[in-house]
Amino acid sequence: MKAIRKVAARPGALEWADVATPHCGPDEVLVRVRAASLCGTDAHIYNWDGPVREMILATTDQLRHPRIIGHEFCGEVMEVGREVRGVGDGAAEPIRRGDLVSAESHIVCGQCYQCRRGQFHVCTRERILGVHRDGGFAEYIALPASCAWINDPATVPVEVACIEEPFGNAVHAATEYDPRGQCVVIFGAGPIGLFSIIVAEAFGAERIIAVDTTAFRLELASRVGAHTAILTSPEASGDAGRRARERERIVGLIRDAAAPLEPDLVFEMSGHPDAIDAALLAVRRGGKVILFGLPKQSAVTIERYAEDVIFGGVTLKGIIGRKLYDTWKRTRELVSRPEVRSKIRAVITHTFPFERYEEAFQKMLARESGKVVLRISPD
Ligand SMILES: [Zn+2]
Ligand SMILES: [Zn+2]
Repeated sequence: MKAIRKVAARPGALEWADVATPHCGPDEVLVRVRAASLCGTDAHIYNWDGPVREMILATTDQLRHPRIIGHEFCGEVMEVGREVRGVGDGAAEPIRRGDLVSAESHIVCGQCYQCRRGQFHVCTRERILGVHRDGGFAEYIALPASCAWINDPATVPVEVACIEEPFGNAVHAATEYDPRGQCVVIFGAGPIGLFSIIVAEAFGAERIIAVDTTAFRLELASRVGAHTAILTSPEASGDAGRRARERERIVGLIRDAAAPLEPDLVFEMSGHPDAIDAALLAVRRGGKVILFGLPKQSAVTIERYAEDVIFGGVTLKGIIGRKLYDTWKRTRELVSRPEVRSKIRAVITHTFPFERYEEAFQKMLARESGKVVLRISPD
C-alpha cells in the first residue's frame, strides 16, 4: 500500500512509499482510510521542530524505522479483530465490516492513576497515532478498537468524518463551560478556533468575537458564526511598549463589540504570547480563559499576573485532546445537524489527492487555509 512516511530527522524528509499492508491484531480493526486531514502537529513533524521530534525518535530507533504519520482520518472497516467486543463507551457499540469510522488519535492505557479515575484524556502513558506508532496517511491502518468511533454514513460524509478528531478538540474546549448566553472571544482563527466558533454558536453563545492576524481567516470566522472579526498585528520587534499598546487597542475593540455583555469566556487558540496576555486582559472579572494554543517556547511570561489573574478572579483551564467518550458523543450529536456540517465544510478550504501531499503541506504552512484534507482513496 501507499503511505506517507517521515524518513529522516530534518525538515521535509517525507516519502510517499510502498509499504506492507498492516495486519489486523486481535484487539484492532483494519481500516481502509478514505480521507485524512493535516494538523499543526503534522506541520511540526514536517518542519522538524517542537517536542514531537523526541516522541518520534524515541519510538522509531532514531528514525531507523520510518514513521507513517497522520492522526486525523476516517475510513471503512475491512476486518474486525477476533477479541473486539465493540467500540466506544464500555465497548458497548457493535462494530462491523463496512462501518465508516473516525479515529480517536490517543491510545490510552486504562491503568494509570488518571485512567483509573476516568480521566482518559490525560492518560500519562498515552500513545498517539502517527507519532508513537504508525498513523493514517496510508491506504490502510490497523486501528486499536478503543480508537474507532462509528459514524452514521447516511448523514456524515467522508470529509466531515475525517475532521472529527480536531473538531473534537473544539467540542472539548467550547463545552468545558456552558457557552449558552455567554459572550465568547476567540483568539486565533485557525481550524480549531474556527471549529470552536461553530460549537459555541451551536450551544447558544450570545455573542462571538474572533481575533486573528490574517484577513483570510477572519473572513472564514465571520462565515461560520463570528459576529465581530478583529484584525491584530503582533509586534515583531518585541518592543514592550508597542506590544502593550496593541494589546490595549485590541481589548478596547473587544469590549466595544461585547457591550452590553462582557467577555465571559475567552479562548486562547493561537499560542502567541501577546494573545495570551491580551486574552487575560480581555476576560471580564470572574470570567474564564480556555487555553489550547501551544506557544513556540514552553516558557511564557504573564505580564499582568496579579492584576489580570488573581485580582480578576479568573479561571484558567487547559484543554488537551478529547474526553473519552463524552466529547465524541457530543461530536456525534453536533455533526448530525445539517447547519453544523455545512459550516465544517466551509472550514475545509482545500482538498488534495493523496499523491499531492507535498502541495497540501505547503498550503497548510502558508496559513492561507482552513483545514486541508487529503483524499486517500476515492470510494
Ligand atoms: Zn491533530
Ligand atoms: Zn492511562
